[in-house]
Amino acid sequence: MTITQSPVTNPPPTHRRCGSLKYRMFEVDSVLRRVNVAVLCENSTAFRRLVMENADPNMPIVLHGPTARQFDHLLWGLSVDPMPQPPNEEDVERLLDVEELSRRYSIHCLQIRAETTVLAVIAEGTNTAVLSCRTNSLVRMLSITMRVHNKTLFAFLMQMWTWRLHSKELDYILTIRVAQPSHWDHDPQPFLKLLGHAFYAAMMDLEPKLSSGQRIDLDCQLTSSEIVHVLCGYHSLRCWWDQIASKPPAYMHCARCMYPERCSYVWRIRFRWLAEKDRISFPKVDGIRRLQEIHRFLAGDLFLIKNMPETCRHNALQELLKRREHLLKTVHHHFDL
Ligand SMILES: [Zn+2]
Repeated sequence: MTITQSPVTNPPPTHRRCGSLKYRMFEVDSVLRRVNVAVLCENSTAFRRLVMENADPNMPIVLHGPTARQFDHLLWGLSVDPMPQPPNEEDVERLLDVEELSRRYSIHCLQIRAETTVLAVIAEGTNTAVLSCRTNSLVRMLSITMRVHNKTLFAFLMQMWTWRLHSKELDYILTIRVAQPSHWDHDPQPFLKLLGHAFYAAMMDLEPKLSSGQRIDLDCQLTSSEIVHVLCGYHSLRCWWDQIASKPPAYMHCARCMYPERCSYVWRIRFRWLAEKDRISFPKVDGIRRLQEIHRFLAGDLFLIKNMPETCRHNALQELLKRREHLLKTVHHHFDL
């Protein structure tokens, strides 16, 4: 066991309650901490009760639940005001520990300070510690936005989660497990969509095996029912792409378009030239990236610029973006979710 002094030191004399003792030993997660109980009791009825119940000053007060590290974070939280903005991932975790433990032990002022800081940091939208946080921290932050009914920040975190799954920054297996709508007391739709993107990330990870006909159930962390969802998505998205590739999106011609049939023909042959042949490096099932790539190419295609009126070209490109948006919104259907 290790014994350390808590960071909560030298409280004002008014804090000296909970009997005559200012310091008590706490045993948390098999680690001993010498803690200024006056500060804890002043702020928390839960700790006041604990100290009363454990009257023998020679015996440590055993705290069940938190780890020693989390308890240290709570004590740190009590010693700082204002709460500093977290500059890195570890500080985000510390802040979240403070928020959760202060809620568990009813330290209301600290809980509000921690919660407000978490929400302010998410609302910044540019904090690198938030933008690069791990899946676990993301889940904890999401829970706070749901508890305070902040729909804007909830949507922001869900969107960030989705994009970071596609860029392989976040763990899709963990997401598949935690994003199950039944785990959340919330509208299931956002979680179903997130789950769809997690399965899409899983499918893309397994794509080399799937496209070469190899088994994916060996050395795989996915359960058998999760593998069925991946296979559903793989086959559904292959069919979806064939359909998209054979039928370019229709668009509105502008009033200045003198030859609409010729205009449509030009659009159709350029689209098919890209979509039907293997001119895009992304796999066939990666509809999200393929449509993005086709849009990027066609937006700068000199042949279309020369042969289509500007507004017709703009409308056609917009229809392409709409298809991609539609796929992003409905990707969970492909995985039978
Ligand atoms: Zn036209």
